[in-house]
Amino acid sequence: MDQTSMSTAQLEALTYPEIVANTLDDQGLARRCPLDNGRHEGIPAFDLGDLDKLPLELLSKALVQIDLRSLTDLRRVNQRAMEVVDSIMQYQVIVAHAPNSLRGILAIGTGQWITCQKLYDQLCIADCDHCGAFGGYLYLVTCKRVCFFCFSQVPDYLPLPPSDALQRFGLDRRIPKSVPRFRSIPGCYTREETDIRTRLTLVDSACARQAGIALHGSVSAMEQHATDVASMRRLAYAAKRMLKAEGALIPTPHRPPPAKAYDGRETNPRRFLAIVRAPWLDLRTRSLEWGFHCLSCLYMDDPWQWTAKFTAETFHGHFEECGKKMEVGDCPMRRQYVGWLEYMGLL
Ligand SMILES: [Zn+2]
Ligand SMILES: [Zn+2]
Repeated sequence: MDQTSMSTAQLEALTYPEIVANTLDDQGLARRCPLDNGRHEGIPAFDLGDLDKLPLELLSKALVQIDLRSLTDLRRVNQRAMEVVDSIMQYQVIVAHAPNSLRGILAIGTGQWITCQKLYDQLCIADCDHCGAFGGYLYLVTCKRVCFFCFSQVPDYLPLPPSDALQRFGLDRRIPKSVPRFRSIPGCYTREETDIRTRLTLVDSACARQAGIALHGSVSAMEQHATDVASMRRLAYAAKRMLKAEGALIPTPHRPPPAKAYDGRETNPRRFLAIVRAPWLDLRTRSLEWGFHCLSCLYMDDPWQWTAKFTAETFHGHFEECGKKMEVGDCPMRRQYVGWLEYMGLL
């Protein structure tokens, strides 16, 4: 088969649109966080005061650079504010084509770290920020485009409880304000359908790590500090216990909590709490691309390859390496599938 001859029908036959990932956008965001676009009833008209003296174009340019929490707060002030925000091109695109990304940001409360322009820019990028493959998802803590493989595997996309971040990165008593944090939405997450019944407060791992490195000067100094603090706590506890045993009038010492084991599993539900599916807005063709999965990869049962997403552009090359070179082995299902590919003239 000539690479360029794959028809839309053939492409559809060789691929499938989605896997059930149970990410944040599967938690009823439209109901939990309605954007109420176009609903002006019940909101006072009024104007924007001195801001109205600016030309609309200039106002839009300024507003697109403010954080999404402030922007959506402003939008609620009155009808005029709503009209102005709704007229921002980037806001219109987000609401029309990726409303769950905005809903997700507002629902978990990361809007103060993300501008409207940043979210729009991420919709216009196709590639995963980490590996460069097609990224069909957004990580809404720092607003980065990611692929399934990376958000399930890479430490940067595993948000941490503040206490874990303090301990791991040798931070003092508080996580710096510059480190994005969020409160999760209760729901059913991961492909294993893990129920998360409470709202968890979590911080971005990569930013917390950077804050630790900045505080200590280097990765090794940060790690050494974290180790030293843990040893000091253990020594202090042992010393107080000894004094208490000898009859000293001191409060009963509390055993320092053991260092929590790092749970980097790909099935850790924390990895799914701030992830939404998001289309790529291809500015060359003015079209939306959600990406799709390769059926041959599914038949090959590769534990990770089948989560990869492709575009019409990248799939041709992939099929040459995957579907056309499928090793049938003694698997009757694969044999049947390859027979079907031959029958369809796809091999
Ligand atoms: Zn990736
Ligand atoms: Zn494949």
